[in-house]
Amino acid sequence: MRLLSGMRPTGRLHIGHLVGALNNWLSMQSEYDCFFMAADWHALTTSYTDTSKLPEDIMEMALDWRALGIDFTRSTVFVQSDVKEHAELYLLFGMITPMPWLERDPTLKNMIEDMHLRGANYGLMGYPVLQAADIALYKAGAVPVGIDQAPHIELAREIVRAFNHRFSIVFPEPKALLAPTPRLPGTDGRKMSKSLDNAIFLDETPEDMKPKVTQLITDPGKIHATDPGDPDICSVQYYHKALRPEDAPQADTDCRAGRLGCVKHKGYLAEILSSYLSPFREARAALRGREGETRELLKAGAEAAGRVAAETMEEVRKAVNLPF
Ligand code: SF4
Repeated sequence: MRLLSGMRPTGRLHIGHLVGALNNWLSMQSEYDCFFMAADWHALTTSYTDTSKLPEDIMEMALDWRALGIDFTRSTVFVQSDVKEHAELYLLFGMITPMPWLERDPTLKNMIEDMHLRGANYGLMGYPVLQAADIALYKAGAVPVGIDQAPHIELAREIVRAFNHRFSIVFPEPKALLAPTPRLPGTDGRKMSKSLDNAIFLDETPEDMKPKVTQLITDPGKIHATDPGDPDICSVQYYHKALRPEDAPQADTDCRAGRLGCVKHKGYLAEILSSYLSPFREARAALRGREGETRELLKAGAEAAGRVAAETMEEVRKAVNLPF
């Protein structure tokens, strides 16, 4: 089955990207025909005022993906704006998407709230329509997403269904593959995000990470090291379970029994984080100066994606009775 997933190039990647999405991508490379996309047009929906860093952000993200083990020769990895058919299908899908479908979208409402936007522009309102076009262009049957993005996949299914019903059956209905580990909370307990200033970045040194780990929210009822705590409401234990599941149950038991203090547990988590990210740091350093090679890989990915996209658009234009 073909799978499509994208990530917006909005700056440095954080540990939430890795645990919530990229680890998932890595395991899916052997199971699916994967299309991974740097979603630069999506990035513009919320940040259009200064685009000067966009090329650099795309390259940094691509280098991070390579360092993490995304194989650019095995999967089709490309930049969204390099395949113009995304825009054409987006436009056509816009014709069959009723406004109320977008206005009731809970993910869009959260984005507007989280980013303190005074109102949504037309581009942001069309975000889920563009996402539907991204998926349908490659006839992807599966889309790995976090729980917060699941409504967008439902909307993509509705749009595809509307197209197939009105014209002819061109697209499969995509299914959401929910990530096994939901995204990690940020240092303030909210969703981890660069814009909320609560992220732990992949390229940070262990020294820079330590104070951030210290800020993580623990059980507020556990005041002293010997008080019994509730690990179910603690971000430290949440990270521990995601990054080193083998000894997390012991920490759970010790916390509940008052045998583990938060300071000690945070110190241990800082060590876990450091060793978890050490292979990434080494691989990333080895890729320094290899931007040209990465650009070539992205170009080859765009050519491969473009061939599939062109075939789909021939079918679409024919279905819609557009001359071609
Ligand atoms: S001991 Fe650990 S799991 Fe328990 S509240 Fe403190 S940091 Fe959280």
